Amino acid sequence: MDTKSVSSSIYTGRFAPSPTGPLHMGSLVAAMASYLDAKAHDGLWLLRIEDLDFDRNVKGAAQEILKSLQRCGMKNDGEVSWQSQRQHLYEAAMQQLDTHVYSCACSRKEIADSRLRMGEAASQVYPGTCRNGIAAGKAPRAWRLRLPEIPHEIIQFNDRYCGLQTQDITAEVGDFVLKRADGFWAYQLAVVVDDAAQGITHIVRGADLIDSTARQIFLQKLLGLATPAYLHVPVVLNEYGEKLSKQTGALAFDRGDNDLLREALIPAADFLELKLEGNASSIAAFWDKAIIAWRNKLHVMPI
Ligand code: GLU
Repeated sequence: MDTKSVSSSIYTGRFAPSPTGPLHMGSLVAAMASYLDAKAHDGLWLLRIEDLDFDRNVKGAAQEILKSLQRCGMKNDGEVSWQSQRQHLYEAAMQQLDTHVYSCACSRKEIADSRLRMGEAASQVYPGTCRNGIAAGKAPRAWRLRLPEIPHEIIQFNDRYCGLQTQDITAEVGDFVLKRADGFWAYQLAVVVDDAAQGITHIVRGADLIDSTARQIFLQKLLGLATPAYLHVPVVLNEYGEKLSKQTGALAFDRGDNDLLREALIPAADFLELKLEGNASSIAAFWDKAIIAWRNKLHVMPI
């Protein structure tokens, strides 16, 4: 894979929550892992609020998340950035992608119907209907990235936790959306633009996003951007085996009392299989011990 190396820059990590609700145990685990990896490498840890989906944003949630992180003792370096204020950067990236991008007039139903006709009901892959232009009388809705067909685009990367990953994005994903039919920028484009603009060298996040990583690496290649190192930590599941989220009824762990340490930090560290030496009598002591415990695990997740 032809990617630029970022290893010479200072370690810069980030946590990038979507403000769809308060932090819960699942998002705390992702925040903690990214924070510990940054601090274990004496690096920077940035915060970015991914508030591009204006229909899913919950009023006040971003401030709640920031307050909870602060109460937990996770201090960010530099200003918090907000994707809603960075849309000119996504527009510029789209311009740069130029002929790799095409407009698509398909509705969800048309895509599903066309897959059925092709006998591919189960596939999520876009059938390519608008690749060579939009049918007469139809209006553009979304903007898609054209993936190479001959040969297919196959992306490989070494995840620091999950090991070697390979994805044929032409076959497994297809031409994916960069700007959605509702007018909002797609996560895949915004995250690539921001991680590069903010000089992120290491991405640590939940394994539910590992499937997106090949798409992001492909976009980095097209835009001439460096590829960060990736580490995807296991996601916290509820009793039904579903990822914790607002939709699956995850509870906010920060209920305003000061007993956060026992209530949330220790179970999150346990989930990450951190072996803390002795009792942490304060939040500061917890982080000191957790950073040492994370450093002790680095041999199994080298940079
Ligand atoms: N905003 C995404 C989320 O809350 C995370 C994006 C990322 O870490 O790349 O799930």
